[in-house]
Amino acid sequence: MVTAESLAELIEGEPVMEAESIEEADRDCPECGGSVLTVGYMPSVTAFVTGWKCQDCDWSDTDRD
Ligand SMILES: [Zn+2]
Repeated sequence: MVTAESLAELIEGEPVMEAESIEEADRDCPECGGSVLTVGYMPSVTAFVTGWKCQDCDWSDTDRD
């Protein structure tokens, strides 16, 4: 079972300070069409990022510019 922290770490590529709960995203993976999970997390004290991760492949994305 994926936790919010481990999902955020997968997206970020390194451990994050804090992560909110995982939700099902209302978008499909652009790579494989699979279902996508979303999680909000804080990679550092001053930043909050929303990330997405496909459940079926390695695709992930964030709302960073
Ligand atoms: Zn995918």
